[in-house]
Amino acid sequence: MTDLKKIKKEAEKEIGSAKDLKELQDVFNQYLGKRGELTQILRSLKDMPKRERIMFGKDANDVKNALTIAFDEKSAGLKAGEARAAEEKEWIDVTAPGKKIAVGHLHPLTLAKRKTMEIFQSMGFAVAEGPDIETEWYNFDALNIPKDHPARDVWDTFYLKDGPLLRTHTSPVQIRYMEKNNPPLRIIAPGTVYRHESTDSSHEFQLYQVEGLMVDKDISVANLKAVVGEFFRRFFEKEVDFRLRPDFFPFVEPGFDISITCLVCGGKGCSVCKETGWLEVAGAGMVHPNVFKAAGLSPEWQGWAFGFGLERLAMLKYRINDIRLFRSSDLRFLNQF
Ligand SMILES: [Zn+2]
Repeated sequence: MTDLKKIKKEAEKEIGSAKDLKELQDVFNQYLGKRGELTQILRSLKDMPKRERIMFGKDANDVKNALTIAFDEKSAGLKAGEARAAEEKEWIDVTAPGKKIAVGHLHPLTLAKRKTMEIFQSMGFAVAEGPDIETEWYNFDALNIPKDHPARDVWDTFYLKDGPLLRTHTSPVQIRYMEKNNPPLRIIAPGTVYRHESTDSSHEFQLYQVEGLMVDKDISVANLKAVVGEFFRRFFEKEVDFRLRPDFFPFVEPGFDISITCLVCGGKGCSVCKETGWLEVAGAGMVHPNVFKAAGLSPEWQGWAFGFGLERLAMLKYRINDIRLFRSSDLRFLNQF
């Protein structure tokens, strides 16, 4: 009887101080498990005389029942505590803002190209395209560039095996378009061109050019100025001063270079504009009669053409100081757009 009381007291104390379900299970095994202290006592009942067995057995079973209840209560309490702790640990705030998914964006050259196309299309220009691999005829001969012109030199042109070449400008598209379409014509031809050049902050061997061509009756330089001025205004989203100065290109007569006020210094003079206050952005002029002839058009037509360097325009619009960044695939650069 003394043993029974002692076991009950100790077991209750240990149940009370069990810190987790594992500890509680150990206590259970110690008293009520297969070889538990109380289990042993209950097992020994069968060897006792009948009277004692009845008396002692009742007490032993009472202790067993009391301990079983104590175990169950403690177990339920520990389980609830553990569930609460897990809930707190895995708590999800369904009202918290989600993580932003990184979405792709357009390359600055694509942005500049799309903007250019949009502006010219709104002025009634169609978009034309031509092949990157050209023949000497389309790239040079048809554009009134003589056989001995230095631009044909291997230092400027990438020649492919057995004759074809990578176009050095988008002007061949003028010829290809005029061969298939009758004037009046208004087109722009955006596309990649290739020059055999060493690269630096303002030179690349692969460039993006936008060709413009307008052919009609009574077309003059005034039309060219009006269209180009409108384009600058809308591309740079502000008034931009520009000027035409005589220049020579074999496929136009007269020819001009088009410069705009330096957008970096506002025309005062800085390192970007080499202290002149002006930046050259395009070559242009009235289409040479020989070009019309090569494309099979009668010389009664008049027209103008221009060629913009898209990288140049994008550099000025987005304040980019090195042309090589466009094709560098550097995410630190690209992520800024
Ligand atoms: Zn400047």
